[in-house]
Amino acid sequence: MRKKTVLITGGGRGIGAATAKLFARNGYVVFINYKSNHQAASRVADDIAAEGGECYPIQADVSKEEDAIKLFSSLDQRVDQLDVLVNNAGILRQQSRLENMTASRINAILLNNITGYFLCCREAVKRMSTRLGGEGGAIINVSSGAARTGSPNEYIDYAASKGAIDTLTKGLSKEVAAEGIRVNCVRPGLIYTDMHADGGEPERVKRLESKIPMQRGGQPEEVAEAIFWLATDKASFSTGNFLDLSGGL
Ligand code: NAP
Repeated sequence: MRKKTVLITGGGRGIGAATAKLFARNGYVVFINYKSNHQAASRVADDIAAEGGECYPIQADVSKEEDAIKLFSSLDQRVDQLDVLVNNAGILRQQSRLENMTASRINAILLNNITGYFLCCREAVKRMSTRLGGEGGAIINVSSGAARTGSPNEYIDYAASKGAIDTLTKGLSKEVAAEGIRVNCVRPGLIYTDMHADGGEPERVKRLESKIPMQRGGQPEEVAEAIFWLATDKASFSTGNFLDLSGGL
């Protein structure tokens, strides 16, 4: 029986890296995409290889159409079928009120966090859809609890980009439901990763812990478990659904 395959965008660090390791431990051939941190992605691939798994890092800025197309073409050269796409490559910028946000900042966030997800969904659907000769598959979009809260005083632009991912999940899940593709979404709350440093506050999760009903932030591995479940046949009747991983927040 052929090994299942997964592509995880932004798989070099944080939630994506934890997800890559979990899929590899479960026998998947794992492709991880990253934008610029080659060292981090290589480390993930080495860790997986050390455990006997198979992982291929691929550089691509998924928000650029030509890069997204090249990313999927390089997958085509290695495997016959893509079973799972985890759309996870997201960014945020310095915490700020809306009145101080420039158009270039807003556009950069929307381009990266929305267009990148759309392009990867498009390329995955072309390969997975039974209507187009594929074997079906699963797409998991990593949104954020920010889509619900709106992230006032921190990054409304980021939160709005995640709101768009929720809508993408709903629409696409219905569009391809009869073509063997399930499209679901996880919405992490406050997770310990390097992303918060990009907002100018590396210790943000620590500061907000007392506001979380479970009184702690989440670990990337806890998000990975939910993503993995949604990818497997155990979630066979789940599509267009949302799993909030927020410790009750
Ligand atoms: P992270 O540690 O900052 O890692 C982000 C990853 O995405 C990196 O591998 C980065 O590549 C990659 N990336 C970003 N833009 C890319 C692009 N255009 N093309 C290719 N790769 C790109 O982030 P994280 O905290 O794990 O977040 C992962 C996802 O979870 C994001 O979508 C984020 O919005 C969401 N999320 C996170 C939290 C949280 O508290 N951490 C909460 C809710 C939702 P390089 O390594 O090359 O830079």
